[in-house]
Amino acid sequence: MRNWLFLALALSSANTSAAWTSDQWDVMGTRATLEFWCEPQANAQTQCDAVTHHVRREFERLNALLSPWQPDSELAQVNAHAADHPVAISDEFMQLLQRSAHYFAVTDGAFDITFASAGALYDYRNGKAPDDKQLSAARQLIGFHHLIITNDTVAFARDGVRIDLGGIAKGYAIDRAVMLLRQHGIRHAYVSLGGDSYVLGDRRGRDWQVGIRHPRDETGVAIRLPVSDIAVSTSGDYERFFIRDGERVHHILNPSSGTASKGLVSVTVLAPRGIDADALSTSVFVLGKEKGLALVNQLDEVSAILIDENGKVFYSDDLASPETPAR
Ligand code: ADP
Ligand code: MG
Repeated sequence: MRNWLFLALALSSANTSAAWTSDQWDVMGTRATLEFWCEPQANAQTQCDAVTHHVRREFERLNALLSPWQPDSELAQVNAHAADHPVAISDEFMQLLQRSAHYFAVTDGAFDITFASAGALYDYRNGKAPDDKQLSAARQLIGFHHLIITNDTVAFARDGVRIDLGGIAKGYAIDRAVMLLRQHGIRHAYVSLGGDSYVLGDRRGRDWQVGIRHPRDETGVAIRLPVSDIAVSTSGDYERFFIRDGERVHHILNPSSGTASKGLVSVTVLAPRGIDADALSTSVFVLGKEKGLALVNQLDEVSAILIDENGKVFYSDDLASPETPAR
């Protein structure tokens, strides 16, 4: 199951026009979930449907902008032409590039959208990975110094450079969905795209419970957290992978090697905004336990829960482990 964050949601059985509304669909290469408390003034169903419709349309718009698989997306156009000439990009695309540059800087290059120069050589569905020769060539094409960014254009310094916003785009999409929900006056909601989510308000008097999936047991839940008004993102090595020679070849790459990042198997980050929770979950996954926790501990309003390859769980300083409650 792709959606490893889950919520137990009590559906209202009260016979009023207000009700919990929920929907699930596939978009941006993953599963979207939307659940919210809808209190329409009149004509209940139409207004609840409009909310869902707007969120769906927003995710579709962002997919058309940021998908690496759609040849006419802005991202695909940049990848196709930026080595030949500077490509004009939208303000929104520029914002995502700037935020990616920020995370490249604060992670010493662990978060790097040019990982795709190597990433594009993997085919997880068909179990294909680059050989050593291809990898060492691709490694030369990884690094933010290959990107030439002006106010409104981006160019690549070399042929073969590729970018991919898969480590930040879904978190951004979640922020856009939360903005739309707020515009519609929604005060209680849960929205997710695969492992990226936001919980808005509470469950009307009770906490939302976010469960972090056990990394090696699809049905098991490792940890439950009561949360509200916060973005929660999980990066795991179980999302897209295949096993080769006993090694797990998965989709989060260490930019310095161009191969799957080792050490941690699951990283969950909680932050005020989805864009940051998403970029940081990927970042901490690559940085590893020590550097990753050090980064999170120096950021305000950011928490993290890490699981290593032995199943051991680590928490950022602000979270008390449930096994060892703070005294
Ligand atoms: P997902 O929900 O897709 O599992 P993650 O937040 O775990 O998302 O990020 C994984 C995605 O991030 C990959 O599919 C890839 O698109 C991108 N990515 C992989 N390695 C890196 C990296 N070192 N820096 C930035 N992005 C990366
Ligand atoms: Mg991420």
